Order: sequence, then C-alpha cells, then structure tokens
Amino acid sequence: MKIHEYQAKSILKEYGIPVQDGIVIESKSEGRAAIDQVSKEFNASQFVIKAQIHAGGRGKGGGVKFSPTAEKALENINSILGMQLITHQTTPEGQLVRKVMVAEAIDIAKEYYVAITLDRATGKNVIMASTEGGVEIEEVAAHSPEKIIRETIDSDGLQPFQARKIAFALGFEGEQFKQAVKLLTNLVTCYIATDASIAEINPLVVTEQGKLLALDGKFNFDDNALYRHPRIKEMRDVHEEDATEVEAGKFNLNYIKLEGNVGCMVNGAGLAMATMDIIKLQGGQPANFLDVGGGANVETVKNGFRIILSDPNVKAVLINIFGGIVRCDRVANGIIQAVSELGLSVPVVVRLEGTNAELARELLATSGVDIIPAGSIEDAAQKVVAAATR
Ligand code: GDP
Ligand code: MN
Repeated sequence: MKIHEYQAKSILKEYGIPVQDGIVIESKSEGRAAIDQVSKEFNASQFVIKAQIHAGGRGKGGGVKFSPTAEKALENINSILGMQLITHQTTPEGQLVRKVMVAEAIDIAKEYYVAITLDRATGKNVIMASTEGGVEIEEVAAHSPEKIIRETIDSDGLQPFQARKIAFALGFEGEQFKQAVKLLTNLVTCYIATDASIAEINPLVVTEQGKLLALDGKFNFDDNALYRHPRIKEMRDVHEEDATEVEAGKFNLNYIKLEGNVGCMVNGAGLAMATMDIIKLQGGQPANFLDVGGGANVETVKNGFRIILSDPNVKAVLINIFGGIVRCDRVANGIIQAVSELGLSVPVVVRLEGTNAELARELLATSGVDIIPAGSIEDAAQKVVAAATR
C-alpha cells in the first residue's frame, strides 16, 4: 500500500526525522486559512504548494509550485487543486489532485537521496544514498551508478559504523555528520518497525541554515503486515488506486490490471502466471492477472467475471482452472450461473482439469451456455488468442 507525502512526513516525524512541514487541505475555500496557519505555526513567509497524489515526478509535472508570497500561494492552490496532474508515473490521462499540501518554503543548500528497500537477490534490506538528490534516481543508476552508496541491512538494523560510513561517503562533516547518522539510523528503524517495503526521501536537503530535513517522503507498505498497523492502514486512499483492483479486493480476489485484451480467470498464482506466459507465447496479450484462489465457488467466479468484463479492452476470456482442492464441477456451475446472470459479451474459452473435470465438461456441454471448451493449456491459449483477434 502506498500513502501520500503528507502522511509519509507524519510518520517520519514520529521517528524523529525533521521534515519540511505544512498542512493539507482539500478545498480551495480553506486556502487562505491554511496559508495563515503555516505562516504562524512554521514562521513562514514563503510557501510551496504541493499536489498530493501517489505518483512521483510531481515537480516536473507542475504539481509543486514555489510561492514567494501569500497571494501567489493562494493562486497556486487554486490552480493545483482539482487539476489533472500528469507525471511519468501516472497514466497518460493523469491523476486528479484532491489534496494539496501548503508547505513552508525551505532555502536549499544541497539535495541528497536516501532510500531503503528489499533487495530480492540477497533477501535483505538495503539502504541506498546519493549526493545526486532531487533528480530521478533511475537516471543516476543508469549513468553514474558509482554515485549510489549501498549498505546491506542485517536483521538487527543499521549498525552505527554503517550509518557513519554512509554519512562520510555523502561528504558530511561536523554537526551535519551527526544529524545524518541519526537520520539514517532513524529511517531504518522506521522502515523495519512499520513493515515498509520502500522508504524514500528524495530529496533529503541541507538547508542554508545547515539543517538536514526531508523535503519529500514516500513509503510502500507490505499489505500482508497492515493488520499490525491500524493507523497506517487508515491512511489508505482508494482514489489513488485502480478502481477495478479495489473492487476485486473486496471479494478477496487477487486482480492486477494489465494492458492486453485477453481476460484471465485462473486458480492459483503460479498457474495464473503460466497462463499469461502461454497467452503471450501464442501471440496474445493478457488483460489482467486474476487468481480466484483455492476455494473458487459460484460467487468468486461470478465476481471474477464481472471484474474481468468491466475492462473495456477485454475481447475474450480464458478460464483455466485446475481442480485440486476446488472441484471442477463447482466451478462449472459457477460459470453457468455467472454467464446466465451476466450475459456473454465476449467469447469465453474454458479449460477445466483435475478433480471432477469429466463431470464439469458434461455440465457445461449440456447447459446450453455458449462457451468454447478447450483441452490442453496450449489449445486453450490458441483458442482464446484467436477469439480475441477475430
Ligand atoms: P516530486 O517531484 O514528486 O518528487 O516532489 P518533491 O517534493 O520532491 O518536490 C520536487 C522538487 O521541488 C524538489 O526536488 C525541490 O527541488 C523543489 N522544492 C520542493 N519544496 C521546495 C522548497 O521548499 N524550496 C525549494 N527551493 N525547492 C523546493
Ligand atoms: Mn521527490
């Protein structure tokens, strides 16, 4: 799960990390009062208006505006709130800005980058830091990878010598060196304690006054650990998520939208991955990943169908079920019921294999529903790709 910058900053603050402060508003009518409050509370006379959307690259997209006066700040609030913000991380249509942060403007002396994430190759968390902050880190990684400092984090957290090593490599000295060591240590503590899968500060800045603070903040959290963090769980903003994925989540369906036109309904994540591979091998493009889980019944099949068909790109559907725990005849009944209730707008290819597969095929054949039966997984993929391109 992702959260907004202002929420990320509230978590960073809890772990003793100084941030560029501000307040968040959702309507233009609150603009004036917000500016007044930020002037008083943070002793600010200049402001930065920052669009709150989950995508990065807001600055380049016009969603972060420096405002030298209160008047200018109000103008920027009015233009950013409600805009459709397009960045390299949004869809081409952009994302509607529903909230803006009215932040204190900071005099920046230098920008740095720091982040923690899981390195899947080693199975350990890794902290990365760079003097090339503010810019897209992907650019740094591609063109000057030597400028990214990495330290592997063991299960007992960042060791003091590691924090010092990074602070030294970033070129900090004296008072700033101490601040950096503390900040890096706190960030790792925060990352582990919150079950984050990404914690990123870009940029981390040194102010003209010599203070280190987080100008931006980004977190991803492990969904499976959210039950341990009720306050973080409440930070979820479904407006920022794909509507179909949100809907699927309500039925415990594991759905991820993709770009193709072949809808997939499969039980088991491994079989779902293999099914997508085989569709691609046959020259097709999957429209989604959908794992209906081990206990597929009439309801899950029906909801799965509804969700797959709500994607207008879908031109054909492949149902590929292996009856291990789930019985194929129950899935067949689910398909029959779903089709008769929802109607068929696109061709549906069905492959059922495993427990009670024979019975399932009979049920489908005699039901009168207009599906295309398939034998092998290859046969199924060929048929569905042909149906989608017809
Ligand atoms: P992002 O583009 O979505 O990553 O948004 P950021 O919060 O990182 O802001 C983008 C850029 O705006 C930063 O890298 C800074 O260069 C600039 N910026 C944001 N806040 C301030 C500020 O208070 N003062 C100055 N001088 N620049 C700022
Ligand atoms: Mn940033």
